[in-house]
Parts: sequence; C-alpha cells; structure tokens
Amino acid sequence: MAVDLHLHSNASDGTDPPELVVEKAAAIGLSAIALTDHDTLSGIHDAREAAHTFGIELIPGVELSVDHNGIKIHMLAYFIEPVPGPLQDRLEELRAGRSVRNDLIIERLNDLGYRITMDDVLRQSSGDAVGRPHIADALVAAGLMANRAQAFHELLRDGGPAYFERDRLTATNAIELAAASNGVTSIAHPLTIDPGDATLLDVFRELKAAGLAGIEAYYSEYAPHIRSQLAETAAELGLVATGGSDYHGAGKPHLSIGTGRGDLVVPDSVLEELRARRG
Ligand code: AMP
Ligand code: ZN
Ligand code: FE
Ligand code: FE
Repeated sequence: MAVDLHLHSNASDGTDPPELVVEKAAAIGLSAIALTDHDTLSGIHDAREAAHTFGIELIPGVELSVDHNGIKIHMLAYFIEPVPGPLQDRLEELRAGRSVRNDLIIERLNDLGYRITMDDVLRQSSGDAVGRPHIADALVAAGLMANRAQAFHELLRDGGPAYFERDRLTATNAIELAAASNGVTSIAHPLTIDPGDATLLDVFRELKAAGLAGIEAYYSEYAPHIRSQLAETAAELGLVATGGSDYHGAGKPHLSIGTGRGDLVVPDSVLEELRARRG
C-alpha cells in the first residue's frame, strides 16, 4: 500500500477543504496520509473525521519554514496533535508573525501601484495561515496578475520587489519542539535547500545530530532516480526516507494526491519507520 505524507488543504494555501483531501486520498486507495498545512493544525479535526468516514489513517502534521545558520529549510513535523503543546503554542506566534509581514507586503504593493487591501487577501483564505499565495490570489482576483505564478515571479518571490522576511524557528528549535510535542521531523523537498558554503550532507548530518528523523526522498517533483539516490543517502545517514506529493489543489494544479506528477509511490513502510522514531 502507498501513503502520502505531504498534503496541503485550505487551512493554509491549498484549495481543497481538509475533508476533500482525505476523501480523494481514500478514493485512490492510499492507506494513510499526513495533512501538513503551513504553520497550522486547524485542518486536522475535519480531516480526522473524514478519515474515520472514509477508512484511511490520518497523521496530524504541519510544515514549518525554518532557518539553519542562514540556510532556509522547510521542515515537516508529524504526529503533532491539535491540542496545546510546545510546538503547537509556537505555531500561534508564527501565524501572528505572518500577519505583520502580510501588512508590510501589502503596503509595498500599494507603493508599487498594485492597489489591494488586507480584506482582499483575507477573502482568498479559508484558514488561519495567511501568506504570499493568498496575496497572489488577491492580485489575480483584482485583475492585476494573470495567475499565482506570475504574481510570485514579478513581485512576491524570495528577494522580489514585494518580498519581506518573516519570523522563523531555527531548525534545531523546530526539531526539539516537535520532539517535546511527541512528534518527529523530516526535511521537506531537500533539494530546494541552498546550502551556501556548506553541503547538503553537512546539513543532514548536523540536523540528524539534533534529532531529525528523516528527509523527504520520495518527493513528487524529483525524478525517480533522484528519489532513489536520496533514499540511499537517508539510509547511509540513519534517516528515514519519507515522501509526499506537496498537493495544493488548484494552487499547484500539476500535482495529484499520492501520485504527484503521475509516477510517485511512497511505500507505507515509511510510516512505520517514522513511528519507530517517536520518543
Ligand atoms: P509563505 O509561507 O507565505 O512565505 O508562502 C510560501 C508558499 O508560497 C510556498 O509554500 C508555496 O506554496 C508558495 N510559493 C512559493 N514560491 C512560489 C512560486 N514561485 N510560485 C507559486 N507559489 C509559490
Ligand atoms: Zn504551500
Ligand atoms: Fe514546502
Ligand atoms: Fe508543502
């Protein structure tokens, strides 16, 4: 059986409600999925109810944007229950940091002549982790950009004219907070990392020493031979090779639940290996 451990709903910047993500995953025969919205667990309750209805296992998760010595990394945390706890409580502060940053971006857009308001942005979001994708959607809705991709390319991309940094956890902090919440962590889409003067292997080793459980080897956007190489690297370092599609619904229309671009298979043994890493 296959699983998908990287999925977004409209609790963050995906477009499907959590229960629809679960229904679609069950319909294609996956045995388990993890909902991993950015900075929020607010979709977990509805996802879990749907998981009971459709007979699929639901792992509560979250995706965090973290910093490791100036290197930007996306970190997936698994088995994080939607109740108060060490990591859970920090998520609230991270969402507050998003709000400050969204104000800065909108002000800059207005200065650049793109007249949208925070209300316009909030209308594009159904959840509580509002960010650049929703600002992009607001620009599209206002007829100022053709699509999300153009809005990112021209304005919102990292380092772009309307880009602002936001509050981030350090990678080691995220790993420790997740462990304190009885969860485990895996580095999302590891080949997106720009390690600067370091190497990717250094980063993996350092974070393994800090308690990291896995790296996302089976990622939808990587060619099958790259996935295999990453899985080998994971095995060599004593890390779990995790995997998922990074489904965002219409937000990334080329990616399907479970199968990614069509050729993704994440074996369900991954989930057992992750479970074994819990404290
Ligand atoms: P934020 O968390 O607000 O910084 O937004 C980051 C999210 O925006 C990512 O997780 C992606 O879903 C999306 N994103 C980042 N870069 C792009 C891009 N170039 N085109 C479309 N979406 C993007
Ligand atoms: Zn996203
Ligand atoms: Fe990511
Ligand atoms: Fe993601």
